[in-house]
Amino acid sequence: MKIYRFEHERSILYGVLKEDLLHPLSGSIFGTFRVEKRGVPISRVRLLPPVKPGKIICIGRNYREHSREMGNPVPEEPLIFLKPPSAIIGPGETILSPAVSQRVDYEGELAVVIKRAARRLAQHEDIGEFVLGYTCFNDVTARDLQVKDVQFTRAKSFDTFAPVGPCIAAAVDPSRLRIKTFLNGKLRQSASTRNMIFPVPYLVRYISHVMTLCPGDIISTGTPEGVGPMSPGDRVDVQIEGIGTLSNTVSKDESEMEPRGDKTRLKPEKRRRT
Ligand code: MG
Repeated sequence: MKIYRFEHERSILYGVLKEDLLHPLSGSIFGTFRVEKRGVPISRVRLLPPVKPGKIICIGRNYREHSREMGNPVPEEPLIFLKPPSAIIGPGETILSPAVSQRVDYEGELAVVIKRAARRLAQHEDIGEFVLGYTCFNDVTARDLQVKDVQFTRAKSFDTFAPVGPCIAAAVDPSRLRIKTFLNGKLRQSASTRNMIFPVPYLVRYISHVMTLCPGDIISTGTPEGVGPMSPGDRVDVQIEGIGTLSNTVSKDESEMEPRGDKTRLKPEKRRRT
C-alpha cells in the first residue's frame, strides 16, 4: 500500500494509490482509516510531502563506502543529528541554494516514517508495529558549511533542505532495497540498503533510547557513496525500489536573508549618526 498526501480542489487529503487513482482516506493514517471508493487521477492533484513530522532524525556515515569517500572512520555507534521540520519540501518543489554556500550536495536516503510512539524499545523488539512505512529523502547539505562549522546544524537546516516523498510505502522490507540518485538523469548513487552499517530496526531501537519517537517522525537512514554537488538549474531524483521517485529541481536563493513569509530583512541595521 502506498499512501500519498495531496491537494485537490483546495482540500488537503491523504489517499491510497490504486493503479493511477488516488482514493482519499478518512480517519488517521496512524490509526484506523477507511478508503473511499471514488478515486482522483494522480495527474490531477498536487503532491505534498507525505507526512508533517514533529522531528527529523538523520543518521550520518551509515554506509562504509560513504564514510571512506568523506575520509571518516566507520562509526562504532550510530551518529545522529536533527534536521528541522521547516526544511521539508515535497515532490516537484525547488531546493534553494543559499548564497552563503558555494557547495550544496544531494544525499539520497531511505527514510522511515514512525506510526506509534516508541520509547526505549527492547534490544530485539520487533519494530513492525512502530513503523508506518518508508519514503525517499534527500538530506541536502551545504558541504562547505558542514566542514567549516563545528557541528551540522547550519549546513543541514536551510529551508528546502529536506525534500521527502513521493509517498509512504507501507509494505516494503527495508533490508534489501536498491537506492539510486540521478543528477540531470545521470546515475550518481546506487547501493543496496543491505550495506547499511546499522540496519533500520537497530536504528529505530537505538534512537528510541535517546528520544521518544512520535507518530509522523522521520528517520533518514544515511546516504551511500557517490554524493556530489548540485547547481542551480539541476534536477535531482532519488529513486528507491518499491517506493518510487522523489524529484526536485535546484534554484539559487535570490531572497538573500529574507525568511519565507516574513518581510523583515535580517540585514544588519544601518548605524545611526550620533
Ligand atoms: Mg545524510
